[in-house]
Amino acid sequence: MKLSTKILIALALGVVAGLILNLAMPDAFTTLDKYVLKPVGTLFLNLIKMLVVPIVFFSIVLGTAGLGDPKKLGRIGAKTIGFFLATTTIAIVIAMSLALIFKPGVGDFETEGAKFEATEAPAVTDTLLGIIPTNPVSAMADGNMLQIIAFSVFVGFALTMLGSKTKGMLSLIEQGNEIMMYLVNLVMKFAPYGAFALIASAIGSQGTEAIKAMGLYMSIVILALAIHSVVTYGGSVALLAKKNPIWFFKGFSPAMSVAFSTSSSNATLPISMKTAQENLGVRKSVSGFVQPLGATINMDGTAIMQGVATIFIAQVYDINLSIGAMITVILTAVLASIGTAGVPGVGLIMLAMVLNSVGLPVEGIALILGVDRILDMLRTAVNITGDAACAVIVDKGEDKHIGTREQEASA
Ligand code: ASP
Repeated sequence: MKLSTKILIALALGVVAGLILNLAMPDAFTTLDKYVLKPVGTLFLNLIKMLVVPIVFFSIVLGTAGLGDPKKLGRIGAKTIGFFLATTTIAIVIAMSLALIFKPGVGDFETEGAKFEATEAPAVTDTLLGIIPTNPVSAMADGNMLQIIAFSVFVGFALTMLGSKTKGMLSLIEQGNEIMMYLVNLVMKFAPYGAFALIASAIGSQGTEAIKAMGLYMSIVILALAIHSVVTYGGSVALLAKKNPIWFFKGFSPAMSVAFSTSSSNATLPISMKTAQENLGVRKSVSGFVQPLGATINMDGTAIMQGVATIFIAQVYDINLSIGAMITVILTAVLASIGTAGVPGVGLIMLAMVLNSVGLPVEGIALILGVDRILDMLRTAVNITGDAACAVIVDKGEDKHIGTREQEASA
């Protein structure tokens, strides 16, 4: 059986097992979760997280060096960032429109005593200024993605400029990348078990009360995620890359399932890159540049949750948002999505920043806290799908500049 089929089956079994344990055997769940599901899930997560920093470093250095001249880098960089900003804006607009139409926050919600301690969200200007690491080693030790990306782009650029002088270093990095990709393949063999455990654990521990109370809110977030995936990504893959969207979603589904089970774009990165390169035929140099960047700054799924949540909270507290306020929400949510780290649950923390920007009560977050775990799984899958769609489109665009891959291979 193909690995991708195994992962999908594991995903379905994980959902079923989680639901049965949750509804019929909560006591058995507690024991099982503690001794089996959590340990197996954590083992899998740690295995893939182990590969993230070296993979980002090697692949961005190679990606930048592989793009060759700075002009090409500029072209790809501009297209990538343009696509990210445009799709994130579309995502929030879809989310807010649906929330305004279906009004999930109109009704009885217990806001008395709702408490949410907003941890200080990092200022976006600080994130942007902090892109250049003062110490690349500590950036790697801390897993600071944007800083690692910046450093790797510099190194890749220098390698291109120095050419034959640094041939040795280039092949060393190529070999390092080979080693990491080999390890990704190895770890992936464990993915069905890891994904099963992570999903069963997440669904098993979900409070059903919260889901009932927040059903409409959840449905709208899910609807917006679905519309955005099918229309925005499917449409742009079809129109801009001239590829069949079904081929795209099918090919990328193993990575989506892993993102769904880990709720972390960063942790899924090694697998999303491998899947895009092998199943969607994206050049290594493009994938190595677009996807790590996307996993860090492009979060359409997160923006969708924030768009729905903002309108929901405004409705619950009976606060009217003017058109100006809504535009502010769109702008801050785009910034928040750039500033959100690709790890579980951060989208909710960044929501505080969006709410603050238009003076909505941050305590409102307490209402959606209970159902965010499940939505985090779904939105993370959408987050990395946006990066892959961008990679496919940028890759296609390169065909006319550097020839198709077949032409490249025979050159
Ligand atoms: N978990 C999301 C991700 O890693 C971020 C978030 O929305 O919390 O992409």
